Amino acid sequence: MSDVPKTHPRYLSLTLRDTIVAGVEQGITSVHGLIAHGRGEAFDYLIGETTQPFATEAIHAAAAMLYLAEHPVISVNGNVAALAPDGLIELGRILNAPLEVNIFHTETGREQRIREYLLRHGAPDVLMPTTEAQLSYIDSNRKFVHPNGIFKADVVFVPLEDGDRCEALRQMGKAVVTVDLNPMSRTAKQASITIVDNVVRALPLLCEGIRDFSDPSAQDTLKRYSNAAVLKEALRHISRSGNGD
Ligand code: ATP
Ligand code: MG
Repeated sequence: MSDVPKTHPRYLSLTLRDTIVAGVEQGITSVHGLIAHGRGEAFDYLIGETTQPFATEAIHAAAAMLYLAEHPVISVNGNVAALAPDGLIELGRILNAPLEVNIFHTETGREQRIREYLLRHGAPDVLMPTTEAQLSYIDSNRKFVHPNGIFKADVVFVPLEDGDRCEALRQMGKAVVTVDLNPMSRTAKQASITIVDNVVRALPLLCEGIRDFSDPSAQDTLKRYSNAAVLKEALRHISRSGNGD
């Protein structure tokens, strides 16, 4: 870890940067993941590096959707595994949902290292991609999935997702909950629910939110939710902060 003093005004952001660099050094995160992280940092700066009301609203709806899901699955890539392993495992425990490794850049052994990293952090099991089950509408390595995981899921939680796969999952009739700091990304626009927040802030709030529901209250929350309205509000917030408001 680099020597960032705790009094530094951007201490948390710099600590996360260290965490993602450590992920690369451990062979969990792809070097390309550093670029994705940098883009996330830029949007986090514009958002104010706190959970804003549009994210709270999406987190509430996501909690409802995951609570009602028959077969929810949590998709894990190298960035999320490095940044928030404990949050992913806690979410899986609350939902009784499997974690499944799914990455874009397949350097040798990285999928296995992510799995082992999550197991060391206390995950009961971690599903891996297989050639037995494949997603339609997608050509990249991310089409290979587990038959009892993403393939069978009705709701997939995919933080920091790539737009292509989000689209493929939607075309296959699955609901997608994502966390993406960029409200303009293809993923943000195509997901059923987009939490525009940093995954390290959003995950604990999502875990807390899931405990609160009954079936009718969760259904009611989903009926009233509009992802387009939430994304519009995120963009409005970013442009207001640019005006110094
Ligand atoms: P799309 O295909 O959806 O348009 P992209 O492929 O260009 O997006 P990626 O390079 O896959 O985007 O990057 C993943 C996304 O994750 C980026 O939009 C980035 O803002 C976001 N992101 C990065 N770090 C975080 C984080 N810690 N929390 C939430 N979102 C993040
Ligand atoms: Mg992409």
